Amino acid sequence: MHCARAGRLCENYAVIDLRSDTASRPTEGMRRAMANAEVGDEQKREDPTVLALEERVAELVGHDEALFLPTATMANQIALRLLSEPGDEVIAEANAHVFRFELGGPAVHAGLAMKAIQADDGRFAPAQLRDALAPPDIHAAVTKVVCVENTHNGGGGRIWAPEQLDEVAEEARAHDLRLHLDGARLWNAAVASGFPLDEFCRQFDTVTLCLSKGLGCPMGALLATSSIRMTRARRLKHLFGGAMRQSGIVAAAGVYALDNHLDRLADDHANARFLGENLVEAGLPVDRDQIETNFVLIRVGEMGLPVPEALSRLAEKGVLLSPSARRETLRAVTHLDVNHGDIEQATVAICGALAVGSDRPKTAAAES
Ligand SMILES: *Cc1c(COP(=O)(O)O)cnc(C)c1O
Repeated sequence: MHCARAGRLCENYAVIDLRSDTASRPTEGMRRAMANAEVGDEQKREDPTVLALEERVAELVGHDEALFLPTATMANQIALRLLSEPGDEVIAEANAHVFRFELGGPAVHAGLAMKAIQADDGRFAPAQLRDALAPPDIHAAVTKVVCVENTHNGGGGRIWAPEQLDEVAEEARAHDLRLHLDGARLWNAAVASGFPLDEFCRQFDTVTLCLSKGLGCPMGALLATSSIRMTRARRLKHLFGGAMRQSGIVAAAGVYALDNHLDRLADDHANARFLGENLVEAGLPVDRDQIETNFVLIRVGEMGLPVPEALSRLAEKGVLLSPSARRETLRAVTHLDVNHGDIEQATVAICGALAVGSDRPKTAAAES
């Protein structure tokens, strides 16, 4: 949104970009790994770097195979197509990426009706899933797929624990549903909770993982599933226009990231907690419990500040945040390109921009 503006600001002084972890740029080491990657024709399955990345990710998530794709959006869309027939229904949380940020893709690419479950932090209960199921009625679309997002972006980077996933999966299986995991940021869930990746994935038929968020790759995603489903998934990759050629150049970034950027996600989480604590102490409406990974939500509406005004004030102070999926709420997302010092600087700038500690009342309620 502020890209052009951010670029201009960058020329004058350092901007701290907390809009998303997609802001992270490839490091020197990653660029070297990309430049030196062994490559071949990916479509002929002759690119050794792509094959190595696919194998490694399949092993990490405990599925038979994984498929390298340009984006996690494409991975989600291929998964839904794979698991359903046109006219079926998919259930997900109302703020799920697949419902809010993929342009109605489930309807376009798979002919699915979409039914939303509301859950503030993105984690819905088995009973909510049961209540949302279409009735066994000749007139009703068949509920076929449930999609879970972990970590949940719209909920503020919240983690579904393996146990919670087991409960929802059990309910879903009881009704013969297929399960898709949008694990674009599953890496964060695993690092923050200490559970291995496969414990979050065993319940699912298909799993999406993104390389261009916290792992810092310029692009790339993977879709993991069983060997039986993978045959069709590979055909869908071609159909969706996602089959590439010497894509080992970008897959090399993924391999590099798994070696070098996975464990360090803990730094992003510590930075988010540090920022959150600072803002709470300064009296800003931030909920400590929300900070489970690398997101910090600020409820600027409670300060009487509309989101666009809050964002432009912050940009003037050299800190970029973005609107969150929740109303009247901003989000700050920590990542590879911001360090502890940047967070200290961002704290001062955010407090200044939102006028905390000045004459301005802290909340709209205090004013009226
Ligand atoms: C970013 C994101 C995606 C899409 O990732 P792209 O690689 O940008 O297409 C999907 N799901 C979630 C939860 C995301 O945050």
